[in-house]
Amino acid sequence: MMRAVTGAATDVGRVRLGNEDSYLCTDRLFFVADGMGGHSAGEVASAIAVSTLSTTLADLGSVATDAERVADAVRTANSAIFDEAAKDSRKAGMGTTLTGLALTDPTGHRAVVANVGDSRTYLWRHGELRQVTKDHSHVQSLVDRGAITRAEARVHFQRNIVLRAMGIDTSVDVDTFDIDLEDDDRFIICSDGLVDEADDDEIEGQIRQATGPQDLADRLVALANANGGRDNTTVVVVDFSAASTADSGHTPTVATERPVETARPSKWLAVAAYGSWLVSAAIIITVVVSALTSG
Ligand code: CA
Repeated sequence: MMRAVTGAATDVGRVRLGNEDSYLCTDRLFFVADGMGGHSAGEVASAIAVSTLSTTLADLGSVATDAERVADAVRTANSAIFDEAAKDSRKAGMGTTLTGLALTDPTGHRAVVANVGDSRTYLWRHGELRQVTKDHSHVQSLVDRGAITRAEARVHFQRNIVLRAMGIDTSVDVDTFDIDLEDDDRFIICSDGLVDEADDDEIEGQIRQATGPQDLADRLVALANANGGRDNTTVVVVDFSAASTADSGHTPTVATERPVETARPSKWLAVAAYGSWLVSAAIIITVVVSALTSG
């Protein structure tokens, strides 16, 4: 039986007025959502994403399940956000990223990582940090084509262009990754507020110093703020150990931080077929124009 011990932290940062991130941290579900959209809609979108996952996958763990069920739950969340945006013009165009981990088979030591957008799920295993997810971002496509390096992507002026997000269309493509869990695996799930401010070496430095998952989550949010805090930062840390009992002693929580004031659109949002750059460019312009006129 895989036992999870978790930590989570979220912070508005040092520049923005509201926190549009949400997270979900139960004994089976560990997700981060980074909302976008004016008139406070971003935090509505991210909150719907995590609450829908929590409801749809409430029975997770009672029976072993698979990646397709997790992807279905993400698609259900996509529809919930899309429907809410269609009902209320103030929420038109709202969207969110979503990434994280579902413990799909605690006994069989299996989990599924899911991703839409540019929030990230990392795995720390055997002293090495590996990014499990692949960003659905314009700069990642430039890295893939060899046009820029990973380090250049972090500071690129177009790093906020997202190519895939939840709630923008009636359907969404969901990346899933099957994980065979090992004892001492540590997952770090974060919004781009962390990775835009800190590179993998800095994150690794904190991993090595942290005393536990909550300490690490707090440290990483503090690191993002110390390096500028230009965006909201949310970090969920999950430590797995092969335990002899099913009792993790963890109280399930669904948490979202409410903004104190309306936030401006935090991203230039575009949704396009992955790799279809002409279409991307047209949609980026359309969405940016509509965001500017509605914002
Ligand atoms: Ca963000």
